[in-house]
Amino acid sequence: MVTERLTQLADRQALSDALADETTAAHSPDPSRDGLGGGDGLGGWTNRIGLLLVDVDRFREIAAEVGPDGGEEVLATLATRMRPALRSNQSLVRLGGDEFAVVLPDADREVAERVAHALLAQLEEPIEVDSGGVRRRLKVAASVGVATCRLPREDPSALVQQASVAVWRAKQSGGGVSHFELGAEQPSRQPPIGELRVALEQGDLEVYLQPQVRLAGGAICGAEALARWRHPQDGVLLPASFLPLAAQTGLMRPIAATVIELALRACARWWSQGLEVPVSVNLGASDLMDDGFTDRIPHLLAAHDLPARALRIEITEDVFLSDRSTVAELIDRWRSAGMMVALDDFGTGYSSLAYLRELAIDELKLDRVFVTDLARATTATIVRHTIAMGHGLGVQVVAEGIEDAATAEALAQMGCDIGQGLHFGAAMPLEDFLRRLHQDGDGR
Ligand code: C2E
Ligand code: CA
Ligand code: CA
Repeated sequence: MVTERLTQLADRQALSDALADETTAAHSPDPSRDGLGGGDGLGGWTNRIGLLLVDVDRFREIAAEVGPDGGEEVLATLATRMRPALRSNQSLVRLGGDEFAVVLPDADREVAERVAHALLAQLEEPIEVDSGGVRRRLKVAASVGVATCRLPREDPSALVQQASVAVWRAKQSGGGVSHFELGAEQPSRQPPIGELRVALEQGDLEVYLQPQVRLAGGAICGAEALARWRHPQDGVLLPASFLPLAAQTGLMRPIAATVIELALRACARWWSQGLEVPVSVNLGASDLMDDGFTDRIPHLLAAHDLPARALRIEITEDVFLSDRSTVAELIDRWRSAGMMVALDDFGTGYSSLAYLRELAIDELKLDRVFVTDLARATTATIVRHTIAMGHGLGVQVVAEGIEDAATAEALAQMGCDIGQGLHFGAAMPLEDFLRRLHQDGDGR
Protein backbone atom coordinates (compact mmCIF):
# COMPACT_ATOMS: atom_id res chain seq x y z
CA MET A 1 0.00 0.00 0.00
CA VAL A 2 1.12 3.53 -0.84
CA THR A 3 0.48 4.74 2.69
CA GLU A 4 2.74 2.12 4.23
CA ARG A 5 5.49 3.07 1.80
CA LEU A 6 5.10 6.73 2.65
CA THR A 7 5.36 6.35 6.38
CA GLN A 8 7.99 3.62 6.11
CA LEU A 9 6.37 1.69 8.92
CA ALA A 10 5.26 -1.83 9.49
CA ASP A 11 1.57 -2.72 9.63
CA ARG A 12 -0.88 -4.41 11.96
CA GLN A 13 0.86 -7.76 11.51
CA ALA A 14 4.05 -6.17 12.82
CA LEU A 15 2.17 -5.07 15.93
CA SER A 16 1.02 -8.63 16.66
CA ASP A 17 4.59 -9.85 16.00
CA ALA A 18 6.16 -7.23 18.24
CA LEU A 19 3.74 -8.03 21.08
CA ALA A 20 4.36 -11.76 20.64
CA ASP A 21 8.15 -11.23 20.62
CA GLU A 22 8.01 -9.25 23.85
CA THR A 23 5.81 -11.85 25.48
CA THR A 24 8.22 -14.64 24.52
CA ALA A 25 11.21 -12.60 25.64
CA ALA A 26 9.51 -11.88 28.95
CA HIS A 27 9.01 -15.57 29.59
CA SER A 28 12.70 -16.36 29.18
CA PRO A 29 14.95 -15.30 32.04
CA ASP A 30 17.52 -12.85 30.77
CA PRO A 31 19.25 -10.64 33.33
CA SER A 32 20.13 -8.06 30.68
CA ARG A 33 16.43 -7.39 30.15
CA ASP A 34 15.81 -6.38 33.72
CA GLY A 35 15.46 -2.76 32.70
CA LEU A 36 13.19 0.13 33.50
CA GLY A 37 10.00 -1.44 34.74
CA GLY A 38 11.06 -5.04 35.33
CA GLY A 39 12.26 -6.89 38.39
CA ASP A 40 9.66 -7.52 41.03
CA GLY A 41 11.67 -9.93 43.12
CA LEU A 42 10.73 -12.98 41.07
CA GLY A 43 14.22 -13.47 39.66
CA GLY A 44 13.84 -11.50 36.43
CA TRP A 45 11.08 -13.73 35.09
CA THR A 46 8.53 -11.01 35.01
CA ASN A 47 8.43 -8.12 32.65
CA ARG A 48 6.09 -5.39 31.60
CA ILE A 49 4.81 -4.34 28.24
CA GLY A 50 3.27 -1.01 27.39
CA LEU A 51 1.21 -0.29 24.29
CA LEU A 52 0.36 3.16 22.94
CA LEU A 53 -2.29 3.75 20.31
CA VAL A 54 -2.01 7.14 18.64
CA ASP A 55 -5.02 8.38 16.72
CA VAL A 56 -4.98 11.69 14.84
CA ASP A 57 -7.77 14.04 15.89
CA ARG A 58 -10.24 15.11 13.20
CA PHE A 59 -8.19 13.43 10.49
CA ARG A 60 -11.13 13.07 8.12
CA GLU A 61 -11.67 16.82 8.22
CA ILE A 62 -7.97 17.42 7.61
CA ALA A 63 -7.95 15.00 4.66
CA ALA A 64 -11.06 16.65 3.24
CA GLU A 65 -9.28 20.01 3.48
CA VAL A 66 -5.94 19.08 1.92
CA GLY A 67 -6.92 16.15 -0.29
CA PRO A 68 -5.79 12.52 -0.08
CA ASP A 69 -2.15 13.24 -1.02
CA GLY A 70 -2.00 16.04 1.53
CA GLY A 71 -3.48 13.69 4.12
CA GLU A 72 -0.81 11.08 3.42
CA GLU A 73 1.86 13.77 3.69
CA VAL A 74 0.49 14.77 7.10
CA LEU A 75 0.67 11.14 8.30
CA ALA A 76 4.17 10.66 6.87
CA THR A 77 5.35 13.82 8.64
CA LEU A 78 3.76 12.67 11.89
CA ALA A 79 5.62 9.37 11.63
CA THR A 80 8.99 11.03 11.00
CA ARG A 81 8.38 13.41 13.90
CA MET A 82 7.42 10.66 16.37
CA ARG A 83 10.29 8.31 15.56
CA PRO A 84 13.05 10.41 17.24
CA ALA A 85 11.02 10.52 20.48
CA LEU A 86 11.37 6.74 20.75
CA ARG A 87 14.24 4.46 21.65
CA SER A 88 15.46 1.87 19.18
CA ASN A 89 13.65 -1.00 20.98
CA GLN A 90 10.34 0.88 20.95
CA SER A 91 8.71 0.04 17.65
CA LEU A 92 6.40 2.42 15.84
CA VAL A 93 3.74 0.70 13.74
CA ARG A 94 1.32 2.22 11.26
CA LEU A 95 -1.99 0.42 11.79
CA GLY A 96 -3.65 1.86 8.74
CA GLY A 97 -5.81 4.95 8.45
CA ASP A 98 -4.68 7.59 10.89
CA GLU A 99 -3.73 5.14 13.64
CA PHE A 100 -0.27 4.36 14.92
CA ALA A 101 0.89 2.03 17.67
CA VAL A 102 4.03 1.88 19.77
CA VAL A 103 5.14 -1.24 21.61
CA LEU A 104 7.16 -0.39 24.71
CA PRO A 105 9.21 -3.25 26.19
CA ASP A 106 9.89 -2.97 29.92
CA ALA A 107 7.53 -0.05 30.37
CA ASP A 108 5.26 0.46 33.34
CA ARG A 109 2.44 2.96 33.39
CA GLU A 110 4.67 5.88 34.32
CA VAL A 111 7.18 5.22 31.55
CA ALA A 112 4.44 4.60 28.99
CA GLU A 113 2.65 7.84 29.83
CA ARG A 114 5.92 9.76 29.66
CA VAL A 115 6.55 8.41 26.15
CA ALA A 116 2.96 9.25 25.16
CA HIS A 117 3.43 12.87 26.21
CA ALA A 118 6.78 13.00 24.43
CA LEU A 119 5.07 11.86 21.21
CA LEU A 120 2.38 14.51 21.53
CA ALA A 121 5.05 17.15 22.16
CA GLN A 122 6.44 16.34 18.71
CA LEU A 123 3.17 17.49 17.17
CA GLU A 124 3.14 20.96 18.69
CA GLU A 125 4.87 22.55 15.71
CA PRO A 126 2.39 22.95 12.78
CA ILE A 127 2.85 20.55 9.86
CA GLU A 128 3.59 21.90 6.41
CA VAL A 129 1.73 20.20 3.62
CA ASP A 130 1.24 20.63 -0.10
CA SER A 131 -2.41 21.27 -0.91
CA GLY A 132 -3.10 21.68 -4.62
CA GLY A 133 0.32 23.24 -5.28
CA VAL A 134 0.11 25.60 -2.29
CA ARG A 135 2.18 25.00 0.88
CA ARG A 136 0.00 25.19 3.96
CA ARG A 137 0.73 24.97 7.66
CA LEU A 138 -1.69 22.85 9.71
CA LYS A 139 -1.98 22.35 13.44
CA VAL A 140 -2.46 18.60 13.90
CA ALA A 141 -3.38 17.06 17.25
CA ALA A 142 -3.68 13.44 18.32
CA SER A 143 -5.06 11.34 21.17
CA VAL A 144 -3.04 8.58 22.79
CA GLY A 145 -4.42 5.53 24.57
CA VAL A 146 -2.07 3.76 26.97
CA ALA A 147 -2.35 0.18 28.23
CA THR A 148 0.23 -1.72 30.23
CA CYS A 149 0.47 -5.23 31.58
CA ARG A 150 2.72 -7.27 33.77
CA LEU A 151 3.96 -10.62 32.52
CA PRO A 152 3.48 -13.45 33.00
CA ARG A 153 0.62 -12.65 35.36
CA GLU A 154 -1.52 -10.68 32.94
CA ASP A 155 -2.60 -11.45 29.43
CA PRO A 156 -0.98 -9.16 26.83
CA SER A 157 -3.50 -10.16 24.14
CA ALA A 158 -5.97 -7.76 25.73
CA LEU A 159 -3.61 -4.79 25.35
CA VAL A 160 -4.81 -3.71 21.92
CA GLN A 161 -8.42 -3.68 22.96
CA GLN A 162 -7.59 -1.91 26.22
CA ALA A 163 -5.51 0.73 24.47
CA SER A 164 -8.38 1.34 22.00
CA VAL A 165 -10.74 1.88 24.90
CA ALA A 166 -8.23 4.35 26.33
CA VAL A 167 -7.91 6.24 23.01
CA TRP A 168 -11.61 6.48 22.82
CA ARG A 169 -11.71 7.85 26.36
CA ALA A 170 -8.99 10.37 25.52
CA LYS A 171 -11.07 11.57 22.56
CA GLN A 172 -14.19 11.83 24.71
CA SER A 173 -12.34 14.16 27.04
CA GLY A 174 -11.01 16.34 24.23
CA GLY A 175 -7.74 14.63 23.31
CA GLY A 176 -4.41 14.08 25.06
CA VAL A 177 -3.29 10.96 26.88
CA SER A 178 -5.49 8.44 28.66
CA HIS A 179 -4.51 5.23 30.48
CA PHE A 180 -6.76 2.18 30.38
CA GLU A 181 -8.31 1.48 33.76
CA LEU A 182 -9.48 -2.06 34.25
CA GLY A 183 -11.88 -0.97 36.99
CA ALA A 184 -13.55 1.39 34.58
CA GLU A 185 -14.42 -1.42 32.17
CA GLN A 186 -15.26 -4.24 34.50
CA PRO A 187 -16.14 -3.00 37.94
CA SER A 188 -16.21 -5.50 40.74
CA ARG A 189 -19.18 -3.62 42.10
CA GLN A 190 -22.50 -5.04 40.87
CA PRO A 191 -24.62 -2.00 39.96
CA PRO A 192 -28.00 -1.98 41.70
CA ILE A 193 -31.03 -2.83 39.62
CA GLY A 194 -32.51 0.64 40.06
CA GLU A 195 -29.53 2.07 38.19
CA LEU A 196 -30.12 -0.27 35.26
CA ARG A 197 -33.76 0.78 35.01
CA VAL A 198 -32.77 4.43 35.01
CA ALA A 199 -30.05 3.70 32.44
CA LEU A 200 -32.62 2.17 30.09
CA GLU A 201 -34.92 5.16 30.49
CA GLN A 202 -32.12 7.67 30.01
CA GLY A 203 -30.63 6.02 26.97
CA ASP A 204 -27.39 4.98 28.67
CA LEU A 205 -27.60 1.56 27.05
CA GLU A 206 -25.68 1.50 23.77
CA VAL A 207 -24.59 -1.00 21.19
CA TYR A 208 -21.00 -1.38 20.03
CA LEU A 209 -20.26 -3.05 16.71
CA GLN A 210 -17.68 -5.74 16.15
CA PRO A 211 -16.57 -6.31 12.55
CA GLN A 212 -17.00 -9.71 10.95
CA VAL A 213 -14.57 -10.30 8.13
CA ARG A 214 -14.54 -12.64 5.16
CA LEU A 215 -11.43 -14.76 5.78
CA ALA A 216 -10.74 -15.03 2.05
CA GLY A 217 -9.97 -11.46 1.04
CA GLY A 218 -10.55 -9.72 4.35
CA ALA A 219 -13.62 -7.63 3.47
CA ILE A 220 -16.00 -6.66 6.28
CA CYS A 221 -19.16 -8.71 5.72
CA GLY A 222 -21.08 -8.15 8.95
CA ALA A 223 -21.20 -6.53 12.35
CA GLU A 224 -22.27 -8.01 15.66
CA ALA A 225 -24.15 -5.57 17.88
CA LEU A 226 -23.02 -6.00 21.49
CA ALA A 227 -24.72 -4.29 24.41
CA ARG A 228 -22.76 -1.73 26.43
CA TRP A 229 -23.90 0.32 29.41
CA ARG A 230 -22.37 3.77 29.56
CA HIS A 231 -22.39 4.11 33.34
CA PRO A 232 -22.00 7.66 34.69
CA GLN A 233 -19.37 6.65 37.28
CA ASP A 234 -18.03 3.26 36.24
CA GLY A 235 -17.44 3.90 32.55
CA VAL A 236 -18.43 1.56 29.73
CA LEU A 237 -19.70 -1.70 31.24
CA LEU A 238 -19.61 -5.07 29.49
CA PRO A 239 -22.69 -7.33 29.31
CA ALA A 240 -21.25 -9.71 31.93
CA SER A 241 -21.65 -7.01 34.55
CA PHE A 242 -25.31 -6.24 33.87
CA LEU A 243 -27.04 -8.97 31.80
CA PRO A 244 -27.18 -11.48 34.68
CA LEU A 245 -28.77 -8.80 36.83
CA ALA A 246 -31.21 -7.95 34.04
CA ALA A 247 -32.13 -11.61 33.61
CA GLN A 248 -32.91 -11.98 37.31
CA THR A 249 -35.10 -8.90 37.40
CA GLY A 250 -37.12 -9.19 34.21
CA LEU A 251 -35.25 -6.45 32.38
CA MET A 252 -34.16 -8.63 29.45
CA ARG A 253 -37.17 -7.62 27.36
CA PRO A 254 -36.66 -3.86 27.52
CA ILE A 255 -32.95 -4.48 26.90
CA ALA A 256 -33.66 -6.60 23.82
CA ALA A 257 -36.07 -3.97 22.52
CA THR A 258 -33.46 -1.25 23.00
CA VAL A 259 -30.61 -3.27 21.52
CA ILE A 260 -32.52 -4.23 18.37
CA GLU A 261 -33.69 -0.66 17.86
CA LEU A 262 -30.15 0.73 18.28
CA ALA A 263 -28.65 -2.00 16.10
CA LEU A 264 -31.08 -1.34 13.25
CA ARG A 265 -30.63 2.41 13.60
CA ALA A 266 -26.86 1.90 13.31
CA CYS A 267 -27.26 -0.51 10.40
CA ALA A 268 -29.47 2.00 8.57
CA ARG A 269 -26.59 4.50 8.72
CA TRP A 270 -24.33 2.31 6.58
CA TRP A 271 -27.04 0.90 4.31
CA SER A 272 -28.12 4.44 3.46
CA GLN A 273 -24.51 4.99 2.33
CA GLY A 274 -24.72 1.99 0.01
CA LEU A 275 -22.79 -0.36 2.32
CA GLU A 276 -25.02 -3.43 2.42
CA VAL A 277 -23.57 -5.30 5.39
CA PRO A 278 -25.96 -7.03 7.82
CA VAL A 279 -26.04 -6.45 11.56
CA SER A 280 -26.23 -9.41 13.97
CA VAL A 281 -28.25 -9.14 17.17
CA ASN A 282 -28.16 -11.56 20.12
CA LEU A 283 -31.56 -12.68 21.37
CA GLY A 284 -32.18 -14.74 24.48
CA ALA A 285 -34.81 -17.42 25.07
CA SER A 286 -37.19 -15.00 26.79
CA ASP A 287 -37.07 -12.66 23.80
CA LEU A 288 -38.08 -15.48 21.45
CA MET A 289 -41.03 -16.42 23.62
CA ASP A 290 -42.37 -12.87 23.56
CA ASP A 291 -44.71 -12.77 20.56
CA GLY A 292 -45.20 -9.03 20.88
CA PHE A 293 -41.47 -8.57 20.48
CA THR A 294 -40.86 -11.01 17.63
CA ASP A 295 -43.89 -9.74 15.69
CA ARG A 296 -42.51 -6.22 15.88
CA ILE A 297 -39.20 -7.05 14.17
CA PRO A 298 -40.44 -6.71 10.55
CA HIS A 299 -41.97 -3.33 11.42
CA LEU A 300 -38.73 -2.16 12.96
CA LEU A 301 -36.87 -3.11 9.79
CA ALA A 302 -39.41 -1.25 7.68
CA ALA A 303 -39.25 1.79 9.95
CA HIS A 304 -35.52 1.97 9.30
CA ASP A 305 -35.96 1.39 5.57
CA LEU A 306 -34.00 -1.83 5.80
CA PRO A 307 -34.62 -5.10 3.94
CA ALA A 308 -34.92 -8.29 6.00
CA ARG A 309 -31.49 -9.45 4.84
CA ALA A 310 -29.94 -6.57 6.82
CA LEU A 311 -30.68 -8.44 10.05
CA ARG A 312 -29.12 -11.61 11.39
CA ILE A 313 -30.40 -13.02 14.66
CA GLU A 314 -27.99 -14.92 16.90
CA ILE A 315 -29.47 -17.51 19.20
CA THR A 316 -27.81 -19.89 21.63
CA GLU A 317 -29.04 -23.33 22.55
CA ASP A 318 -30.71 -21.98 25.69
CA VAL A 319 -33.63 -21.21 23.38
CA PHE A 320 -34.32 -24.94 23.36
CA LEU A 321 -35.15 -24.80 27.02
CA SER A 322 -38.37 -23.38 25.65
CA ASP A 323 -40.71 -25.32 23.45
CA ARG A 324 -38.60 -26.69 20.58
CA SER A 325 -41.27 -26.78 17.92
CA THR A 326 -42.27 -23.18 18.64
CA VAL A 327 -38.65 -22.10 18.25
CA ALA A 328 -38.25 -24.07 15.03
CA GLU A 329 -41.42 -22.46 13.61
CA LEU A 330 -40.28 -19.01 14.62
CA ILE A 331 -36.93 -19.50 12.93
CA ASP A 332 -38.61 -20.75 9.75
CA ARG A 333 -40.86 -17.71 9.77
CA TRP A 334 -37.90 -15.35 10.11
CA ARG A 335 -35.97 -17.07 7.39
CA SER A 336 -38.83 -17.11 4.93
CA ALA A 337 -39.22 -13.39 5.57
CA GLY A 338 -35.57 -13.02 4.51
CA MET A 339 -33.82 -12.58 7.85
CA MET A 340 -30.82 -14.72 8.70
CA VAL A 341 -30.36 -16.88 11.78
CA ALA A 342 -27.06 -17.86 13.40
CA LEU A 343 -26.44 -20.51 16.02
CA ASP A 344 -24.09 -18.89 18.55
CA ASP A 345 -21.41 -20.48 20.78
CA PHE A 346 -21.55 -23.65 18.68
CA GLY A 347 -19.86 -26.66 20.20
CA THR A 348 -20.03 -25.66 23.84
CA GLY A 349 -23.54 -26.87 24.62
CA TYR A 350 -24.69 -30.36 25.40
CA SER A 351 -26.30 -31.20 22.12
CA SER A 352 -25.19 -28.83 19.42
CA LEU A 353 -25.54 -31.55 16.79
CA ALA A 354 -29.15 -32.26 17.73
CA TYR A 355 -29.93 -28.58 17.23
CA LEU A 356 -28.31 -28.59 13.83
CA ARG A 357 -30.50 -31.52 12.89
CA GLU A 358 -33.71 -29.87 14.09
CA LEU A 359 -33.19 -26.32 12.96
CA ALA A 360 -32.68 -24.77 9.56
CA ILE A 361 -30.17 -21.98 10.08
CA ASP A 362 -27.87 -19.82 7.94
CA GLU A 363 -24.78 -19.58 10.07
CA LEU A 364 -22.92 -21.49 12.71
CA LYS A 365 -20.66 -19.58 15.09
CA LEU A 366 -17.86 -21.76 16.30
CA ASP A 367 -17.18 -20.91 19.92
CA ARG A 368 -14.02 -19.10 20.98
CA VAL A 369 -12.79 -22.09 23.02
CA PHE A 370 -12.03 -23.96 19.80
CA VAL A 371 -10.42 -20.99 18.14
CA THR A 372 -8.02 -20.21 20.99
CA ASP A 373 -7.02 -23.87 21.18
CA LEU A 374 -6.48 -24.39 17.46
CA ALA A 375 -2.80 -25.25 17.88
CA ARG A 376 -3.83 -28.59 19.40
CA ALA A 377 -4.18 -31.31 16.80
CA THR A 378 -7.43 -32.66 18.30
CA THR A 379 -9.06 -29.25 18.30
CA ALA A 380 -7.87 -28.56 14.76
CA THR A 381 -9.46 -31.81 13.60
CA ILE A 382 -12.78 -30.96 15.27
CA VAL A 383 -12.74 -27.50 13.74
CA ARG A 384 -11.85 -28.71 10.24
CA HIS A 385 -14.68 -31.24 10.27
CA THR A 386 -17.17 -28.83 11.81
CA ILE A 387 -16.48 -26.46 8.93
CA ALA A 388 -16.98 -29.28 6.41
CA MET A 389 -20.19 -30.30 8.18
CA GLY A 390 -21.47 -26.71 8.10
CA HIS A 391 -20.74 -26.47 4.40
CA GLY A 392 -22.41 -29.82 3.78
CA LEU A 393 -25.54 -28.41 5.38
CA GLY A 394 -25.32 -25.21 3.37
CA VAL A 395 -24.46 -23.19 6.45
CA GLN A 396 -21.67 -20.64 6.60
CA VAL A 397 -19.19 -20.96 9.41
CA VAL A 398 -17.98 -18.06 11.56
CA ALA A 399 -15.03 -18.37 13.93
CA GLU A 400 -15.18 -16.19 17.04
CA GLY A 401 -12.34 -14.89 19.18
CA ILE A 402 -9.58 -14.71 16.54
CA GLU A 403 -6.79 -12.80 18.24
CA ASP A 404 -3.85 -13.16 15.86
CA ALA A 405 -2.96 -13.44 12.19
CA ALA A 406 -1.70 -17.02 12.47
CA THR A 407 -5.11 -18.22 13.74
CA ALA A 408 -6.92 -16.26 11.02
CA GLU A 409 -4.65 -17.82 8.39
CA ALA A 410 -5.10 -21.35 9.78
CA LEU A 411 -8.90 -20.98 9.78
CA ALA A 412 -8.87 -19.57 6.25
CA GLN A 413 -6.83 -22.60 5.15
CA MET A 414 -9.46 -24.85 6.72
CA GLY A 415 -12.12 -23.14 4.62
CA CYS A 416 -13.80 -21.23 7.43
CA ASP A 417 -15.91 -18.47 5.87
CA ILE A 418 -15.94 -15.60 8.34
CA GLY A 419 -13.79 -14.43 11.24
CA GLN A 420 -14.47 -12.22 14.22
CA GLY A 421 -12.15 -11.23 17.05
CA LEU A 422 -9.65 -8.76 18.39
CA HIS A 423 -7.34 -9.44 15.44
CA PHE A 424 -9.91 -7.78 13.17
CA GLY A 425 -11.15 -5.30 15.75
CA ALA A 426 -12.91 -5.17 19.10
CA ALA A 427 -16.53 -4.07 19.42
CA MET A 428 -16.47 -0.32 18.80
CA PRO A 429 -18.81 2.69 18.82
CA LEU A 430 -20.81 3.30 15.64
CA GLU A 431 -18.72 6.23 14.39
CA ASP A 432 -15.54 4.13 14.57
CA PHE A 433 -17.25 1.24 12.83
CA LEU A 434 -18.45 3.52 10.03
CA ARG A 435 -14.88 4.74 9.58
CA ARG A 436 -13.65 1.12 9.37
CA LEU A 437 -16.31 0.27 6.80
CA HIS A 438 -15.34 3.22 4.63
CA GLN A 439 -11.62 2.46 4.88
CA ASP A 440 -12.46 -1.12 3.96
CA GLY A 441 -14.45 0.04 0.94
CA ASP A 442 -11.67 2.44 -0.16
CA GLY A 443 -9.07 -0.29 0.14
CA ARG A 444 -10.49 -2.43 -2.63
P1 C2E B 1 -21.06 -13.51 22.34
O1 C2E B 1 -22.36 -13.40 21.62
O2 C2E B 1 -20.30 -14.80 22.20
O3 C2E B 1 -20.20 -12.27 21.85
C1 C2E B 1 -18.81 -12.30 21.65
C2 C2E B 1 -18.10 -11.76 22.88
O4 C2E B 1 -16.70 -12.03 22.74
C3 C2E B 1 -18.20 -10.27 23.06
O5 C2E B 1 -18.09 -9.99 24.45
C4 C2E B 1 -16.96 -9.78 22.36
O6 C2E B 1 -16.56 -8.48 22.76
C5 C2E B 1 -15.97 -10.82 22.80
N1 C2E B 1 -14.86 -10.93 21.88
C6 C2E B 1 -14.84 -10.63 20.59
N2 C2E B 1 -13.66 -10.91 20.04
C7 C2E B 1 -12.90 -11.44 21.02
C8 C2E B 1 -11.54 -11.94 21.06
O7 C2E B 1 -10.82 -11.97 20.06
N3 C2E B 1 -11.11 -12.40 22.25
C9 C2E B 1 -11.88 -12.40 23.37
N4 C2E B 1 -11.35 -12.86 24.51
N5 C2E B 1 -13.14 -11.93 23.37
C10 C2E B 1 -13.65 -11.46 22.19
P2 C2E B 1 -19.14 -9.09 25.16
O8 C2E B 1 -19.48 -7.90 24.34
O9 C2E B 1 -18.61 -8.89 26.54
O10 C2E B 1 -20.43 -9.99 25.21
C11 C2E B 1 -20.48 -11.12 26.02
C12 C2E B 1 -21.75 -11.88 25.76
O11 C2E B 1 -22.88 -11.13 26.22
C13 C2E B 1 -22.02 -12.15 24.30
O12 C2E B 1 -21.26 -13.24 23.90
C14 C2E B 1 -23.51 -12.41 24.33
O13 C2E B 1 -23.77 -13.73 24.74
C15 C2E B 1 -23.99 -11.48 25.43
N6 C2E B 1 -24.58 -10.29 24.84
C16 C2E B 1 -23.96 -9.17 24.39
N7 C2E B 1 -24.86 -8.27 23.94
C17 C2E B 1 -26.07 -8.85 24.08
C18 C2E B 1 -27.42 -8.44 23.80
O14 C2E B 1 -27.67 -7.36 23.29
N8 C2E B 1 -28.43 -9.32 24.12
C19 C2E B 1 -28.18 -10.53 24.66
N9 C2E B 1 -29.21 -11.34 24.92
N10 C2E B 1 -26.94 -10.96 24.94
C20 C2E B 1 -25.90 -10.13 24.66
CA1 CA C 1 -23.19 -13.54 19.73
CA1 CA D 1 -20.60 -16.44 20.76
